[in-house]
Amino acid sequence: MINVTKTFLPPQSEYGAILKRAWDLGWLTNRGVLVQELESNLKEYLQVPNIIATTNGTLPLQIAIKALGLTGEIITTPFSYVATTSSIVWEGCTPVFVDIHPEYLTIDETKIEAAITSKTIAILATHVFGNPCAVEEIEKIAEKYNLKVIFDAAHCFGVTYNGNSIFNYGDISTCSFHATKLFHTGEGGAMFCNDKLLFDQLFYSHNFGHNGPEAFYGIGINAKMSELQAAMGLAVLPYMGKIVKARQVIVQSYNEFFKDADIQLLKIKEQVQWNYSYYPVIFKDESQLLKTQAALNELQIFPRRYFYPSLNTIPYVKRETMKISESIASRVLCLPLYDSLEIEDVKLITATIIHCI
Ligand SMILES: *Cc1c(COP(=O)(O)O)cnc(C)c1O
Repeated sequence: MINVTKTFLPPQSEYGAILKRAWDLGWLTNRGVLVQELESNLKEYLQVPNIIATTNGTLPLQIAIKALGLTGEIITTPFSYVATTSSIVWEGCTPVFVDIHPEYLTIDETKIEAAITSKTIAILATHVFGNPCAVEEIEKIAEKYNLKVIFDAAHCFGVTYNGNSIFNYGDISTCSFHATKLFHTGEGGAMFCNDKLLFDQLFYSHNFGHNGPEAFYGIGINAKMSELQAAMGLAVLPYMGKIVKARQVIVQSYNEFFKDADIQLLKIKEQVQWNYSYYPVIFKDESQLLKTQAALNELQIFPRRYFYPSLNTIPYVKRETMKISESIASRVLCLPLYDSLEIEDVKLITATIIHCI
């Protein structure tokens, strides 16, 4: 069976050796040595000045909205994982959708200004499949209208723009280290923020608001990463170079096999060092997608409909038509992509698709 992804598992002995350090100390959470070491190694690997490791990639979105003190309307993308929208609603804000670019699949920055009202307080946009939003244009709009910017960078581990980590953009960026993501800690995530005051607020917010064992800065929640999660991250991180390289080879094979095929592939922005995190293909229509999906399933190959449905159609938001996002969501399939995927399988997958379209 071939799934859309296959979690990279480091040699169990290596994970065990790191876990032993937690055993020896009898310390499993509350920002122990393993979490601190993972944060330090990630800062170096990602070339970011600051990071807070968290227990997943959703709480950072909620904490970011809370820490920025946001109430009102948040402009966001309908083409993302549900956590982007649910976090806005969970924090008592109102999502206002702006449609996406048909090729980059990120929020269409040229349509943002038209959606701004007197109640708009922020922009929360997703860098889709590791393809960054138009970060400079978005920051410019934010400055003009005095809005905060949060980037859901769940897919962006290792992505750089103009040689700079994509996590360094916006007021706050977040990432997910879920087992299905490029780099993982089983469940996990991170927050990035380059403003010292705001960083401090994010930091205490993720640990109940603590300022020392018996004092509090303010309200907080529990989003701490455990030592067990950090141990997985420390075991996986040394393999990231190899993992990304292997994925690059697979992506190049997909591209090569699809060279003359009548199918839309993801267009990566200029100046971006991409991370080969996902391989979406966009069909002519939904029936072509369903037919192809069925043919692949028949061969025990299970691509996934990321992202589907378009988030402007979920039950708890005000429904507004988002033509491009709804169209793309109904036609996009993410193909299997992981470091140990065989080129023979890439060949079978692409041949099956080409036969169906
Ligand atoms: C995975 C993902 C999240 C949520 O991350 P978790 O770690 O699963 O909580 C948020 N946004 C996007 C775009 C994602 O793909």
